[in-house]
Amino acid sequence: MDSSQPAPGPAPEAVSPLSEDDLRRWRACPRRFWLQRHGGAAPVPAGEEPGADRMVDGPGAAQALRACYSGLVALPAPMTDDEWQVAIDLTERLLVDVEAQDESWAIAGACFASDDGVRVRIDLVARGTTGLRLFRVRHATAGTDADVDTVALWLHVVARNVLRVQGAGLMLIDTGFVYPGHGCYAGLFREVDLAPVLGGRPVGDWIVAMRRCERAALPAVPLGAPCDAASGAGGPCEQLAACGLPAREPSLADAAASLDIVGRELAAELRAEGHVSLHDVPLHRLTVARHRRAARAVKHGVPVLEPGAAAALRTLPGPRRWLRFETIGFAVPPWAGTQPYQGLPFQWSCDLEQPGGSVAHGGFLAGADADPCHAFAASLAESLGSEGPLFAYNAGFERNRICELAARFDDLAPRLDALRLRVVDLFALLRDHYYHPAMAGAWSLRAVFQAVAPEEGAHEFEVAWQGRTLRSPLQAYAASLERGLPAAEVWRLHEALREHGRRHCAALRRITAVLEAA
Ligand code: SF4
Repeated sequence: MDSSQPAPGPAPEAVSPLSEDDLRRWRACPRRFWLQRHGGAAPVPAGEEPGADRMVDGPGAAQALRACYSGLVALPAPMTDDEWQVAIDLTERLLVDVEAQDESWAIAGACFASDDGVRVRIDLVARGTTGLRLFRVRHATAGTDADVDTVALWLHVVARNVLRVQGAGLMLIDTGFVYPGHGCYAGLFREVDLAPVLGGRPVGDWIVAMRRCERAALPAVPLGAPCDAASGAGGPCEQLAACGLPAREPSLADAAASLDIVGRELAAELRAEGHVSLHDVPLHRLTVARHRRAARAVKHGVPVLEPGAAAALRTLPGPRRWLRFETIGFAVPPWAGTQPYQGLPFQWSCDLEQPGGSVAHGGFLAGADADPCHAFAASLAESLGSEGPLFAYNAGFERNRICELAARFDDLAPRLDALRLRVVDLFALLRDHYYHPAMAGAWSLRAVFQAVAPEEGAHEFEVAWQGRTLRSPLQAYAASLERGLPAAEVWRLHEALREHGRRHCAALRRITAVLEAA
């Protein structure tokens, strides 16, 4: 046996039920399924999955389903075997009366077990005219293959309970929905019938194969295993450490000298010529100044700044300001007149250069009451003066938001248009004059802040919150909107957001100072 592989643990209890999560893991990688069933690493807690910092349901999410089904009965998620049995019994009792119910009735979190050892919790069971309707509810605009697998498993389990099913599908967010307010979310979801694709999923065979897999030895690593890529299996594999795979290439050091830094097409040519990293590519082989600059920085292991940036900055008369916007898009819009995923600016932060070299900080942070866009735009128009550059990084983001606000609010449009013309992109200046080897070819705000201004800490955001960690301003702001939150908790989250805004502006100032150092 390969000593780099973990030894098989004891076989799991034969009666331990399979679940939707087991199926998702097995379909992604049988080894992942096996490790989990044999006591591997715990699954990543909900809300901390990779990518969760970019997805926000919104404070109205819990209301939304109830608005569609006024007779909704919501069952809490069972944790222990006893709680599962209670939930299964309760589901069974609720279904006895299904004929007496109308179309507004549904069960959220209905639990079932099958005689072939599967236990599932269905997002939504509603009443149809000829049988039950099963739905996977996603706060997303599209479903995944894993969603279809899950629904196929639910259908299998419900069928083995000898219940008549009329249909099964997904409930997805309809991006055309405009929230009218007052908790009216009827129309937020659109239903997608999965009948045409469910028949092609041999769930019975999968269950047999999963049982066989967990009784056998640890499976080999499958080709194309989704070890560290986001996947339908819920993101990077939580069994990475338990799996015993050797360290993956490229290492961090390799990434910093990767040929891909000069672009994939050129990197492919260089590889074909026998080069393996930027260290061994002669500078005369690189014809683009930006590529030569990156190669010089990599070869010498120090940042390279070329003349021109300081002169360009000197052409911009002050006073200088450094500006950052934060926006959020909710799957379930919380404010009347807004739509799912509409980009809503909720915070701006700005440092203003003062005579004598000191800096004054200002900003705006929206409350919870209503669409904050007009207040955001008005405060911006009032606070940023009428002259001097507004430095931002990847400034198209700030410019586009200002443009959208000007289009929405006629009363502010002239002043917002004037602001937009003053926005200066630090990214463009940096790209044309600078390279830091720690960027490893990445020009994202996070990568640049980490490489150029790590001492400001603007590349990180972390707030401990109700037993989990919020890793983005979006998550913190969304948490601050939760209904019934004590004022002190709202204040704590707002302070974290304001502090992040200060760090962000300080990092932008640091980039400007670096560019002026030539
Ligand atoms: S690390 Fe890769 S091979 Fe190992 S269990 Fe996870 S997905 Fe499978």
